[in-house]
Amino acid sequence: MVAEGGRLLVVGGGVLGLAVAAAAAEDGWRVTLLEREDALCTVASGTSLAWANALAKRPASYAALSREGIKRHAAGSAAATEPWFTPMPADVRGVTVTEGGIVDVAAFARAHAGAIRDRGGIVRVGASVARIEADATGAVAVLGTGERVGADRVVLAAGVGTPALLRGHGALAPIDVVGPIGAIARVRAPASWSAGLTVGDELSARPSGAGELLLQSASLEEAIRDGSLPLDERACWRRLRAIASRHGLALEDDDLQGFGFAHRPQPVDGLPIAGWATDRLYVVVAHSGVTLAPVLGCLVAAELGGERQIELQGLRPPGSVPNDSDEEHIHGH
Ligand SMILES: Cc1cc2nc3c(=O)[nH]c(=O)nc-3n(C[C@H](O)[C@H](O)[C@H](O)COP(=O)(O)OP(=O)(O)OC[C@H]3O[C@@H](n4cnc5c(N)ncnc54)[C@H](O)[C@@H]3O)c2cc1C
Repeated sequence: MVAEGGRLLVVGGGVLGLAVAAAAAEDGWRVTLLEREDALCTVASGTSLAWANALAKRPASYAALSREGIKRHAAGSAAATEPWFTPMPADVRGVTVTEGGIVDVAAFARAHAGAIRDRGGIVRVGASVARIEADATGAVAVLGTGERVGADRVVLAAGVGTPALLRGHGALAPIDVVGPIGAIARVRAPASWSAGLTVGDELSARPSGAGELLLQSASLEEAIRDGSLPLDERACWRRLRAIASRHGLALEDDDLQGFGFAHRPQPVDGLPIAGWATDRLYVVVAHSGVTLAPVLGCLVAAELGGERQIELQGLRPPGSVPNDSDEEHIHGH
């Protein structure tokens, strides 16, 4: 493995790429993070309910990883100039769940990009990676513009864009990480609304910043998926207003502050993927990535430094290197 001071390229500026890049920069890597969009955390990470939770996670090792994610959010946020995590009980279908809290993803992004830059790292937005080239001497990210960015090691944390960059590298079985589409609305909170974090089959809601709520509806997402509702902001907002009003949340048309759609980066069995595709290329993809980012960031950074992490043993993509014949793979694909 490369010693401290090696060049690390991280592709993807969502919560996972930022967490890995910040932890690796702290470990002494010279980090460059490349993000395709014009801002950080705008794809799945910016279209997330961002509830850090360990509810109904299976197997036990995955639940433990989620609990560790919550703990590290709390500790990291408490030490940050601009906190990003608020511990908060959730009303989940009428049952109170005390473990967990809400993440301000934009504040998380600012804190982590700041930490990378403070360690001399580079965070670039508007930098779309067309492909990765790698051989025995190193790796190169070739940007859409033709620009080439060299590194000793590359981490792919590109969410649903990861398989396209992996193609042609190593012996990994093709991975399918395009999970169900999700929709999040940011709305002005009516003065009458006093509920905190509520999670339901029809409607989930959480506070977000000053006087705003994030809303998500599993039944609305289901209707998009089965084709009975078009993937259209106006149509989805009309449906969401009707659902919200059934739950005592009366919204006016101009209460809508933003509406976003994104596919969940989600391996087919729902569990994260973390491991080496080749000796130069590491891949990390996770559903519940907001919950897991702080813990996966540190574990992946440790593996970049050559220390195999027992917590990641069950999460290797089949065909990963080094050949983990001693490890039990729990991914079924
Ligand atoms: C509706 C919804 C609700 C959710 N609710 C929760 C929740 O309550 N709790 C929770 O823990 N998780 C939740 N999730 C899941 C969570 O949001 C994701 O697991 C997490 O954001 C994944 O982070 P990421 O960094 O891997 O992905 P992303 O945020 O998608 O980041 C990947 C980045 O890679 C970039 N990229 C891709 N290809 C390239 C390329 N070729 N070159 C350069 N950059 C590239 C993309 O532009 C993107 O910014 C939810 C997701 C959705 C959609």
